[in-house]
Amino acid sequence: MRPNGPPGPGRRGLSRRELLGAAAFSSLALSLRALAPLATAASSAPALPTARAAPSYAGWQDLYRRAWRWDRVVRGTHLRANCFGACSFDLFVKDGVVWREEQADVYAREAPGLPDFAPRGCQKGACYSDAMLGPDRITHPLERVGPRGSGRWRRVSWEHALGRLADAILDAHAEGVPESVVYDNGTSNVDSGPASLGEMRLFTLLGATLLDGFGGTGDLAMGAFQTWGTSFVDGSADDWMRADALVFWHCNPASTRIPDAHFANEARHRGATLITIAPDLSPSAIHASLWVNPHPGSDAALALGLARGILELGAVDEDYVREQTDLPLLVRDDTGRFLRQSDLEEGGSSEVFYVHDLARGAAREAPGGRGRRSDSLALGDAVPALAGAFEVATRDGVVRVRPVMERLRERLRAYTPEHVTRVTGVAPGVQRRLAETLAHSPRVLFYASWGSNKSYHADLLHRSLILLAALRGQQGRSGGGVRFAAWLPFDGGSDLLPGSGPSRLQRALLRFFTPAPRAMEDAIASASPRLAWMPSHLFLWLHAGLAEIQDAEALDETLPRPAREYLREAIERGWIPVRLPADRPPRVLVTSGVNPLRRWPLPQVVERVLWPKLRLVAAIDFRLSATGLKADLVLPAAGYYEKRGIKYAMALAPYAVVGDRAVAPQGESKGEWEIMALLARRIQERARERGLGGDVIRIHDRFSEGGRYGPADDEAILDRILRNSSLTRGVGWSEARRAGAIRLRSAGGWGTTSGVGSELEPGGTLSPSRVHVEGKRAWPTLTGRQQFYLDHPWFFEADEVLPRWKPLPRAGGRHPILLTGGHTRWSIHAIWRAHPELLRLQRGGPVVFLSVEDARARGISDGARVRVWNDHGAFRVGAKLSPAVAPGEAIVYHAWEPHQFPGWRGSMEVVPSPYKPTHFAGGYGHLRYRVFFAGPVHVPRGVPVEIERVSA
Ligand code: SF4
Repeated sequence: MRPNGPPGPGRRGLSRRELLGAAAFSSLALSLRALAPLATAASSAPALPTARAAPSYAGWQDLYRRAWRWDRVVRGTHLRANCFGACSFDLFVKDGVVWREEQADVYAREAPGLPDFAPRGCQKGACYSDAMLGPDRITHPLERVGPRGSGRWRRVSWEHALGRLADAILDAHAEGVPESVVYDNGTSNVDSGPASLGEMRLFTLLGATLLDGFGGTGDLAMGAFQTWGTSFVDGSADDWMRADALVFWHCNPASTRIPDAHFANEARHRGATLITIAPDLSPSAIHASLWVNPHPGSDAALALGLARGILELGAVDEDYVREQTDLPLLVRDDTGRFLRQSDLEEGGSSEVFYVHDLARGAAREAPGGRGRRSDSLALGDAVPALAGAFEVATRDGVVRVRPVMERLRERLRAYTPEHVTRVTGVAPGVQRRLAETLAHSPRVLFYASWGSNKSYHADLLHRSLILLAALRGQQGRSGGGVRFAAWLPFDGGSDLLPGSGPSRLQRALLRFFTPAPRAMEDAIASASPRLAWMPSHLFLWLHAGLAEIQDAEALDETLPRPAREYLREAIERGWIPVRLPADRPPRVLVTSGVNPLRRWPLPQVVERVLWPKLRLVAAIDFRLSATGLKADLVLPAAGYYEKRGIKYAMALAPYAVVGDRAVAPQGESKGEWEIMALLARRIQERARERGLGGDVIRIHDRFSEGGRYGPADDEAILDRILRNSSLTRGVGWSEARRAGAIRLRSAGGWGTTSGVGSELEPGGTLSPSRVHVEGKRAWPTLTGRQQFYLDHPWFFEADEVLPRWKPLPRAGGRHPILLTGGHTRWSIHAIWRAHPELLRLQRGGPVVFLSVEDARARGISDGARVRVWNDHGAFRVGAKLSPAVAPGEAIVYHAWEPHQFPGWRGSMEVVPSPYKPTHFAGGYGHLRYRVFFAGPVHVPRGVPVEIERVSA
């Protein structure tokens, strides 16, 4: 039971200086081991308001007691931090200050035999009460008075700041190019509450360009999209408990999924074989039964070698493969293309495919193809052949056809253990042991996460991994399959996002029937080009100078044509929507809590080419980031404990977590909903004052639904979202704010950010893709199956019709070390990166992890300063020698701010991040632009560099 503190002296306004001092004092007070010196420090602490009668803190005993009293406890979370943790915290508020936080025990467990989701949290969240008052906190609107990046600012009023931003936006409207206003929300600051909703609503209503940041942050599993027609696929972490073999491939949950990492240990104690596959001995690898360390960028070869092993062991689940995959579909020997109805009949469909039915001894239509009326995968009495060659009479004459499986066997023939060893460095005996484990484990779960997306040929790895799981019949089964990540949709807010939600009629219809995944995907994909989103890498290619870098090199030597030809063809054919074409320069950039000058590739090029085109750069944030430092306007956002909201829900932890406002926003900072409402009002006022026409003169009326939702109405919005979302059906804001976390009522429908395709078991786990396997509904692909054979012309050109391994292109030059990365234990992206307490747990600043061998060869000792460079740029950093790092690899963990490096030159200055042309492929069933699911991907990992010792 919690002791209740005495009623406090009541909230009173504290100056920032007082508050910072009080917070620092609080940190000290909570350190019991330092009680003696504390009493001295406390008695002279200048920050406590002198007008207050108490406390005197005359004795250390009094100090101890007072440190553990509070005025009230509020349920909060780290609302817009881009982490998968659905962590509810109790926030202890005293004198208007959050003095500390503690993990809240609010997670229900209904099913016996599965571990709890409680407690949840990580060390970043546990010190946010300190971080929110850190030296980089912004408390007042700031306007640049010196050159960009000079650090010369003046404090301005909100009225002035919003007036300036409103005028810049209206200038774009007056020029007839509202799309030249660009809004970037990156994904690293997205929530499911009024903050993100307000921003996306306003900029959509304004006709601005919204950058689709999923690809731009490297969060698109493009190989999953190519194979499944969806990429956001994941289950809950407690479903790991049902795996017999749990394979962490290309991810490191012990560092990056801290609240959920315990499920892996518990699965191991239950008897699961825990395997990690990564070049470095990561914090997750040390807990594994087997650690396999392929060379960086060689994973697809290992996966295909294992697929060959499964075939040789006779461990293929043939019934599953026949029904759920394209491996039985017939392919013409003469063209290499699927046998289609259009090959057989005049006017036949090009989207109906065939299998050879062993029961009838003849070809028959394969269930699932897009050209069929039914989307059922049920085979009935058919037994599709997985081997053999057959003759079919086509309109071109008799042709020989074979199932895809035959071609797959041919492809896998190349992946002998010896060849795989040459490519990956993994010994044949280890490959054999791994293949046998996968073949003999009834349930095999591969967790790849989004870390697996961030290299150039990541799609080939995804396709190979999914193939492995499919051969074993794993996808769609509890405790099995491949998992990446999936957001769960708070659809209760979608009607506030113009164009993105169903119409009123559709909503009424949806009450009575649930559309099939393919119908949902078709609807979202067909709406995608009309929405205001543009892939952020396409934007950079067209407007930020990346074209000249990427076109200058023959980056991908396996393609017969330069990459730019594919991109131009995709644009000309309308396969990729260009919301802001090259001849219409961007004029205003608004970022909210995201940090493009840290995240985007080659920021030195972006700054040289894009920044001069921008008349105004406005950064909304609670801390001064690399982008804020080079902005024209900085608008202070409220911190996570200073506003109300809903943290986005992920499949991994099936809870909706909300945060209440524990304390007033610092200084003049404001919640993003309020900022957007005030900006809308200001734009409308200025538009009328300037005599402009069009929708913009009613922008506030539209934004506020005719005055229904004003700047202070965030709670009404929250209530609307929660009550109307299938995830939280019927729970209102007042109930949610008390609960902190709500067990999800549903996993939600198929949506713009979810392709889970399963429902939560009552009181149990969430495992994805069950609608296809148990429900036998077609996958949203061209063939309606998990599609490994992509007979698109560009995939023939790339020789990627079937999964294969390819070496990474030498984007950055021919240098001997591959620079990789990984999310870090000590920050969520750049947030917390500069937090003093967390820096004390590392080396106090950016480091590159180097193998002992590579360091010795270069005369580099631990702690030395080194220069990391390639053909594009360089940065200086401290060296950390680690026997856990493989020779030939160097690691700079995620999201150090550029200004933490000498000369403000950060680690992205060597990262060109070339786009892969096949990601623009269209005109082929599911290969098409689809907002949030498909497009060019940021690939910051596997960059060739050289490293040398320097004096400073
Ligand atoms: Fe949980 Fe994320 Fe907060 Fe850490 S930062 S405690 S993972 S919500």
